[in-house]
Amino acid sequence: MDTPLVLLDVDGVLNPLQRSPGYQRYRASPDGVVYRLLLNPRHGPLLTGLAADTGAEIVWASYWRDAANDWISPRVGLPSLRHVPIPRHDPEFSLGAWKARHVAAWVGERPFVWLEDEPDVTNALTEEKELGPYLVVPVDPLHGLTETHVDQARAWLEQLIRDHG
Ligand SMILES: [Mg+2]
Repeated sequence: MDTPLVLLDVDGVLNPLQRSPGYQRYRASPDGVVYRLLLNPRHGPLLTGLAADTGAEIVWASYWRDAANDWISPRVGLPSLRHVPIPRHDPEFSLGAWKARHVAAWVGERPFVWLEDEPDVTNALTEEKELGPYLVVPVDPLHGLTETHVDQARAWLEQLIRDHG
């Protein structure tokens, strides 16, 4: 079996809309525009633990693209990660549908679990015919990623390994 992927979004997942305990404020200016961020240093260990336990590779699936390695990774405790090359958003599509098309094209038939807050990626993925097994773990953008989401991802990956190992 190909190495499973953990696809990781930034806004609404690592960077929620609402500040909860454990989050710190940051600013980032990847393209000269200043963005305000709320980031949680516990996210990195949670996710690298998931990857270590399951043999999965964490990959950015975000409009931040590889800028996430500069502005997000060091602040949450993640290493530098590969990223899905998502082109600039085409407004003919929703943010989620545009992203899902490019995720599908990039992952091919590799299994993946996707931590994502855009609700329409699930529908968009059902239009893709050539995908391997996958799970979208929907994240509430107000609160961002929690241990519950990571546990869902872990349970699915462990089942995948049992089925295909
Ligand atoms: Mg998002």
